[in-house]
Amino acid sequence: MATEFFNHLKCRECGRRYPKKAIHVCEFDFGPLEADYDYDLIRSAISRAKIESRPQTMWRYRELLPIDAEPTVGLQVGYTPLVKADRLAKALGVKELYVKNDTVNYPTLSFKDRVVSVALSRAKELGFKIVACASTGNLANSVAANAASAGLKSYVLIPADLEASKVLNSLVYGTNVIGIHGAYDQVNRLCSEIAGKYGWGFVNVNLRPYYAEGSKSMGFEIAEQLGWRIPTHTVVPMASGSLLTKITKSYEEAIKVGLLDETPFHIHGAQATGCNPIAFAHKSGTDLIKPQPKPNTIAKSLAIGTPADGYYAVNTMRKTGGSAEDATDAEIIEAIKLLAETEGIFAETAGGVTVACAKKMIASGKIADNGPIVLCITGHGLKTSEALQEHLAKPRLIKPSLREFDQLIAAEEALEAAQ
Ligand SMILES: *Cc1c(COP(=O)(O)O)cnc(C)c1O
Ligand SMILES: [Zn+2]
Repeated sequence: MATEFFNHLKCRECGRRYPKKAIHVCEFDFGPLEADYDYDLIRSAISRAKIESRPQTMWRYRELLPIDAEPTVGLQVGYTPLVKADRLAKALGVKELYVKNDTVNYPTLSFKDRVVSVALSRAKELGFKIVACASTGNLANSVAANAASAGLKSYVLIPADLEASKVLNSLVYGTNVIGIHGAYDQVNRLCSEIAGKYGWGFVNVNLRPYYAEGSKSMGFEIAEQLGWRIPTHTVVPMASGSLLTKITKSYEEAIKVGLLDETPFHIHGAQATGCNPIAFAHKSGTDLIKPQPKPNTIAKSLAIGTPADGYYAVNTMRKTGGSAEDATDAEIIEAIKLLAETEGIFAETAGGVTVACAKKMIASGKIADNGPIVLCITGHGLKTSEALQEHLAKPRLIKPSLREFDQLIAAEEALEAAQ
């Protein structure tokens, strides 16, 4: 049905049009290819009411997603809660704060299920039998799970030193996990070579134009859940920088097709200090990304030293009057605990990055308290629990005896009274 809405790929640099095949770079200037739509047609085909009447998944925005027919993979993905975070707002000193909670995205507990459901639906349309990815962990989990349920064979290539839980959460689906002795950038380069030689569908290489569009669904949902309003501030964690540029594109497209009124908005980017090529470029006032060959941070899901969309992310933050920040490992851990203790949401290290950076942006005035602020929390804490191992209190152990319990509570009350 959607054939007529999505009609070609387009070079972001020169605007040349390309057929919608498994290609991702322009032959003339090596610019990235991006999905392009017939916005006039979409404008006449959808409305707020029509979208609201559809099932609560990311596919309620299917006219703005790059597949030809009905989706076949990831039908339950998306429409995660937008949580009004009053206790966190108070802790950070702002009035109106929300958490877009993709820690509970289905089925693999990160926002990567959004990009994978589009990439694999498109991979099936293009006839691929084997799908694959280069991943910092979450993408591997999502490709493994969604390929399994779609009956596709899959290979996931990851840096060998990822968190144990991220590795286990790929292996369980029976995918082929290949650990590479090297950083993500080396994994990615190898995947480009493999994609060319083996002709597999690499979701974030030759299928990248389709994959990347899936991230827009997070932005569409934020605006709809906010009562069809664009938040004044959106804080987005950055690895390649793709999610940040696509959330921005989602707001712009929703305006273009008449779903949202045009209001000013600011897009802010968050990285870990141990791998901050995009934040560093923005803070330095340049859009030249200096590669960081040796990332060193607990936020491994964001550890991309040569970010593919870094240039576009910097320019997006600049164009929207947003800012960039980075957070140290200690700040990330403190922020994971703050989010958990105030809102009952256990985020992975990338979520700690977002909260820690938002805290700094608010404190420094880069985020003014002048409208709704949305924090994009992109992955679940159970997948990176080792990062917290040395940073939480231990359980108190007693015998199964009421007397021992009484003593424990009495000691606690005495301590509280003394404070
Ligand atoms: C992949 C990922 C991101 C951001 O990815 P981009 O490459 O910038 O789109 C953010 N958070 C988590 C948890 C991720 O896995
Ligand atoms: Zn071009």
